[in-house]
Amino acid sequence: MKNIYGMTLEKLEQYFESINEKKYRALQIYEWLYQKRVRDIKLFSNIKDDLKNTLIKDFSFDRPEIVKIEKDEETAKYLFKLQDGKYIESVLMHHNYGNSVCVSSQVGCNMGCLFCASGKLKKERNLTASEMVSQIMMIEEDMKVRISHVVIMGIGEPFDNYDNVLDFIKIINNDKGMAIGARHITVSTCGIIPKIEAFMKENLQVNLAISLHGADNETRGKLMPINKVYDIDSLIDVLKKYVSITNRRLTFEYILLDNVNDSKEDALKLVKLLKGINCYVNLIPYNETNSGGFKRSSKDKILAFFDILKKNNIQVTIRREFGSKVTAACGQLRANYTSKGVIE
Ligand code: SAH
Repeated sequence: MKNIYGMTLEKLEQYFESINEKKYRALQIYEWLYQKRVRDIKLFSNIKDDLKNTLIKDFSFDRPEIVKIEKDEETAKYLFKLQDGKYIESVLMHHNYGNSVCVSSQVGCNMGCLFCASGKLKKERNLTASEMVSQIMMIEEDMKVRISHVVIMGIGEPFDNYDNVLDFIKIINNDKGMAIGARHITVSTCGIIPKIEAFMKENLQVNLAISLHGADNETRGKLMPINKVYDIDSLIDVLKKYVSITNRRLTFEYILLDNVNDSKEDALKLVKLLKGINCYVNLIPYNETNSGGFKRSSKDKILAFFDILKKNNIQVTIRREFGSKVTAACGQLRANYTSKGVIE
């Protein structure tokens, strides 16, 4: 059975037409779900009883369950239990410009990046659009805040779950849905080229971030198995096309790992690779996990790397750290839970 929170407005309109109902019913439902935030369909006062019964028969209104919250001053990390007993996590971050949520897109991940805690647990399944929408709605309701920004950078590879991620974006972006501006939504991918090609044709104003982490095939290939399928040159080629078609600025994420990808030469290679591309680089201080034995680069090395990029006119920022007090980076809460044997 389909979950109501996973229906784009367009799909809901098609559904109503298919049962010989007026299309505008979809907007009425959206208002109850996303503006009034009423969960009990019996209270949908402008919907007739027989239509309510049809909706109850055709859709599930279920949501995941919050099983654990870890908070500090600027972060709240949520562990959710899904309908089938699987666990995922999301992180709320308070910024001076608003509140953002880092959303998971899969249960586990198959990309196998060596430094990443999420990748240790293989993909069990894709998340449905409704499970992604619920992460945001439930955090908003639990914390009584409005979420202004969404990053799809939690557990999973969003472009390995393309259709559901796209529906999710359409639902949260719809101004009758959660009305989160497209420019406040960021999808992060490890670089699945065919999906980047598809994404550039969707005509969305969403931000795209690429996890790069290495400026040559040797370095990147050792960290990210996906590089053996889609190498750096092909990736950069498609990204140039992406920028010219969408006119959007790209983000490159680059985790600095001690003695792996953080030398001056690495920085200069990165400069050469990105020269002329409308982009900025987000340098990420590594959150040490027990995956792969990687170490975080020293502050000095991070700053030296930053300076080289800056001097060479590459726009660059160093990611402010969030959540390191609360089991740190995405994937770790769930991974710790699993290693304690809590998740089957
Ligand atoms: N699969 C997607 C999105 C999930 S990962 C992707 O690869 O982009 C989101 C970001 O967090 C990626 O840039 C990833 O490389 C980074 N990341 C993973 N583990 C990390 C860690 N331990 N410390 C810092 N960043 C990490």
